[in-house]
Amino acid sequence: MRLQRKLSIVLPVMVLLPVVASLLLTLPSLLKQQRNTALEQTEQFLQQAAVKLASDFSAIKREVSIYAHSETLQGMDYQRFSPFLKAEKLRSKGRFEKIIVGTLDGGFYNTEGANPYLGGLRSFDDSDPNAQARTIARRDYWQATIGSNSRNEAVVTVSKPMVSYTTGAQQVVIAASIINDKQLVGMIGVSIDWDHIKGTIKQIKEDTFSALNWEPRFFLTSKDGVYWYHWDANKAVHLKRDTNNQLVLNADQQTISVTHSLLEETPKAWRLASRPMMSQKKGRFRYFDQREDRHLIVSFTPIDDTSYSLGMVVVEDEILAPLQKLLASSTAIYGLSSIFSLLMALWLARKLASPLVQLSNYANELKDGHRPPLPPLRGNNEVGQLATALDDMAQAVTERQERLQLSEERFSLAMQGANDGVWDWNLNTDHVYFSPRWLDMLGYASAELPEDAETFFSLVHPDDAGLTQQSVDQCVYNRAPYYRVNFRMLHKDGSHVHILSRAYLVCDPETGAPRRLVGTHVDMTEQHNQQLRIEQLNNSLESRVQSRTHELEVAKNKAQNLQHQAEAANSAKSQFLANMSHELRTPLNSIIGFTGRLLNKLELDPRSLDALQAVENNGKHLLNLINDLLDTARIESGSITLRREDFCLIELCQQALSQIQPLIEGKGLQVNTDFSSSHIRVRADRKYILQIILNLLSNAIKYTLEGSITLAVNNSTQQGIEGVRLAVSDTGIGIDQRDIPRLFERFSRLDTSRANAIQGTGLGLILIKEMVELHGGRAEVSSTLGRGSCFSIWIPRWPEED
Ligand code: ADP
Repeated sequence: MRLQRKLSIVLPVMVLLPVVASLLLTLPSLLKQQRNTALEQTEQFLQQAAVKLASDFSAIKREVSIYAHSETLQGMDYQRFSPFLKAEKLRSKGRFEKIIVGTLDGGFYNTEGANPYLGGLRSFDDSDPNAQARTIARRDYWQATIGSNSRNEAVVTVSKPMVSYTTGAQQVVIAASIINDKQLVGMIGVSIDWDHIKGTIKQIKEDTFSALNWEPRFFLTSKDGVYWYHWDANKAVHLKRDTNNQLVLNADQQTISVTHSLLEETPKAWRLASRPMMSQKKGRFRYFDQREDRHLIVSFTPIDDTSYSLGMVVVEDEILAPLQKLLASSTAIYGLSSIFSLLMALWLARKLASPLVQLSNYANELKDGHRPPLPPLRGNNEVGQLATALDDMAQAVTERQERLQLSEERFSLAMQGANDGVWDWNLNTDHVYFSPRWLDMLGYASAELPEDAETFFSLVHPDDAGLTQQSVDQCVYNRAPYYRVNFRMLHKDGSHVHILSRAYLVCDPETGAPRRLVGTHVDMTEQHNQQLRIEQLNNSLESRVQSRTHELEVAKNKAQNLQHQAEAANSAKSQFLANMSHELRTPLNSIIGFTGRLLNKLELDPRSLDALQAVENNGKHLLNLINDLLDTARIESGSITLRREDFCLIELCQQALSQIQPLIEGKGLQVNTDFSSSHIRVRADRKYILQIILNLLSNAIKYTLEGSITLAVNNSTQQGIEGVRLAVSDTGIGIDQRDIPRLFERFSRLDTSRANAIQGTGLGLILIKEMVELHGGRAEVSSTLGRGSCFSIWIPRWPEED
């Protein structure tokens, strides 16, 4: 049951239980007490009324007693007592209806009249001298005071109420025996008008009503149970009247009294109570009055010194009305206070439970993985502290969850990446968790295999089972923290999967007892197969390498032989060229020499002169060609050794310029020099460097029709090596970019030079290149067709000795 509902039930019960219990325990006794109090109060009024009536009668009794003891009456002399009594009647101011004096023989006198013929006695006709005297001998008061008073006692009595024979009025007589010298001589009675009694009762009723706010119903009975007073006037003694409201008279011309007795009452309760009532006892009874349809309570008490009983009938509801009012108001108060208590309890339950409910909801949200805002419950009370603690806990849990999630993600990714299967064997329960990948590795789906160690071992290849069991036992029994073992497991399709199994032992941190064995499986089948393939390939590769190595050996030997042959052929060629050049130069020098002499010494006709000069020119050209060929051949054959010397390159340039001066002048070109210094010393073969400069300059002159030629020399360090750069630039015909790669090939002459019919051998540049490279340098060219060229060389200034 929820706390709020529990509190909503328990608190009101706790609050209301004492209220209801006290109500249930006290209310009946309280009600009884109140009822008794109300009844006692009622009866008190009845008692008061009885006392009042009794005291009235007592007062009269005393008065009557005094009369009886007075000498005036003791003489029983009518003449004497008559004026006295009349005066007394007047003095009573109507209280005494009449005063009667009875004689021992039943005759009587009274204050109302007298028959003078009978000595004052009352007669049926007081004016008639022969009238018969009336008697009171049958009256109870005469009987009590005279008739039954054989012992001559001074009896004082109150008569039964009666109806006057003479007046018809209801009356009661209080009578006393007149004793004279211990002799009973008569009686004196005072007649009280019954209306006076009724007036007293009425007064009592009014007093009661004003005090109690309800009207009691009084009745007064004589000893015989006759109602002499009754709230219902019809039940009280009254004179019989006919339908015309005329008094009905009997045969003696006397009025007829109609009486009712309590013995006539039909309810059983009345009948039961009639005897004690008539015996002048006190009492009370309650009954349900059918006619009135309600409970009535009848109380009765004797009126002292009289033979009457006074009764009072009250309606129970009326006398208990204040009680019922009290009950209603106390019930209302109890009810209201209960409702108030209930509401307070509910409010309290809600107030107590609400923060707990909020915290409970908050905790449930946390449990579901959410992080709702903390309910506004922070404070110094316990709930606030609980909320703060819960929030701190949530924060800690969130952080741990995040860390755990991160860790799990990493683990998951790592597992996915590694494609490893995971198993977790609980050594206490023998339950084994197999991850989906673990199962998939063996071809099984989730929940297809029982999750226990038996499954694990039953799938291990029989040949590997011993080693596997041994590894596991090492961990479980010898507490080895880790094992790593390779084995095969049976795949669902009947094949075997090569597994690399790694496991870690997890022990109880307190007792150190082994609890779990957690491990991973890696499918090594592919690697295993690859390994097999690699081994096979290695084996075949080895044999292939052996045969290839053999083939290469053979080829290498062949190539070496061919190289030797080529080298020998090249050497033979160079030797041949050197020999041939020598053989050619000797006769050629002779031809040129003789031709020169002939031209100097002979005077020849112009045709012969031209022919001879052509011989000389062609001879020189041929000689140059042979020299170049010879140089090239010597360089290629490696038979050239540089004779390095230290000289000034600027001076060598000057020398070259002066040697070539005739050619320059012949073409009318301008020659510029651009030397960064007047002394740039190098260590090189002076002869070859001079030949290089001459070749560059002669080419520039040859291929420049007009303009200028510039010879530039400057120091230039390349790749950290101190060197010198020499460049010859011209404003000549230039070279097509496409032709530049071919420039340094042997016998390579470009179309432009042939087109311009410029003499050449195509060996100049290759010689320059090879000579420069012999010096450890390099040659370069840049040119623009139609605008000029720049050929340059770079050589180290201080090369290491060869
Ligand atoms: P050649 O004896 O023909 O001059 P080279 O080997 O000296 O032989 O030159 C090769 C070719 O390079 C030449 O035929 C010419 O076409 C071209 N050449 C060389 N120097 C120049 C230059 N300064 N200007 C233009 N072309 C040149």
